[in-house]
Amino acid sequence: MRGSYKIARIAGIPIRIHVSFLIVLPLFAYIFGSVFRQAAAAAGVPPQGLAIGPWLWGLALAIALFAAVLVHELAHSLYAIRKGGEVREITLLMLGGVSQLTKMPDGPKREAMMAFVGPLTSLLIGGLCLGIYALLGEVGSFNARFGLFYLGFLNVFLGAFNLLPAFPMDGGRILRAMLTGPLGKLKATRVAATVGKGFAVLLGLWGLLSLNIFVLLVALFVYVGAQAEAQDVVLHEVLAKVHVGDVMSREVPTVPAERSVADAATLMASERRDSLVVLDEQQKVVGVFSLAEVERIPRERRALLTAREAMRPTPTLSPGDDAAKAVRVMGEGALPFVPVVSEEGLVGTVSREDIARAMRLRALEQEERRQRERPAKHGWFGRRREQHP
Ligand SMILES: [Zn+2]
Repeated sequence: MRGSYKIARIAGIPIRIHVSFLIVLPLFAYIFGSVFRQAAAAAGVPPQGLAIGPWLWGLALAIALFAAVLVHELAHSLYAIRKGGEVREITLLMLGGVSQLTKMPDGPKREAMMAFVGPLTSLLIGGLCLGIYALLGEVGSFNARFGLFYLGFLNVFLGAFNLLPAFPMDGGRILRAMLTGPLGKLKATRVAATVGKGFAVLLGLWGLLSLNIFVLLVALFVYVGAQAEAQDVVLHEVLAKVHVGDVMSREVPTVPAERSVADAATLMASERRDSLVVLDEQQKVVGVFSLAEVERIPRERRALLTAREAMRPTPTLSPGDDAAKAVRVMGEGALPFVPVVSEEGLVGTVSREDIARAMRLRALEQEERRQRERPAKHGWFGRRREQHP
């Protein structure tokens, strides 16, 4: 994710921190610190019995909250990996965390379980902390009791909040998975997203009435998240119906692998192309070669290097692959385009622009069809409206 920094690697998963997290950390420390007296009273601990002051406790609690979020996300990710999914990274954000999966475990049942293990882990940890807190009673040190009480409270809150049956919370995912059977994924997503938006509006009203900026912020986060989730699924469903072979560009400039970079550059200039597909003697795609690769090589060396030596290796797609896969492949490799190869060899290239153009043309086509069908629908009171060309 852009604007984030890797801080650790746990069980092979890179853990990243987003800049927004660094901004809210002091804010959280301040909020926790300012209600410190009430917090100590709620935990049944005299504030003067604590080893460190309110602000340090605020900071410690803020860090504990994000540690709780990290453990919650790890639960999702580790379950996904065990069930055949692939996790690219976990990012800690301003309000919570995200596990980015490159591959989801298959089936709504596993999706529901994957969503459920996060809140379940949070509730278990929370329950354990509160249980020990209760057992300790008056016996434990003030610091241990205060720490356990709030670690427990934060985890229970995190688990319970995420079980709300609304997108983008985990409960929304569980709801969607349960509705996918009877309604299909698209409709199920719409329902979960609508519930999410409704919930966000209620939360927003509460935030406005109580003048609580923090609640308003969470409401906004929920609303935007619900919207994005719905759009994501709709886009994916639409792209899954489009074949790469129907949207690709068929004209592909190529260069033999053993030709020099200087020759390739001349070809690019004369053809007015910013990239070429590199082919070996058997006409097999071995890589791609773009303006950036030419520019990186000093002019005097361009005649000495071959296209093969300067190119970038590339994945390929087949004409029968769907556009959703093409978008995913381009995203993973940060590639501007991907060569399309059939049994006969190279048949085209596909880029985001190709896909976007195809989607716009399709929308235009649907609009025109609706226009053509419209007059019949306007026959009110049995009278057909006349059309004047
Ligand atoms: Zn979660």
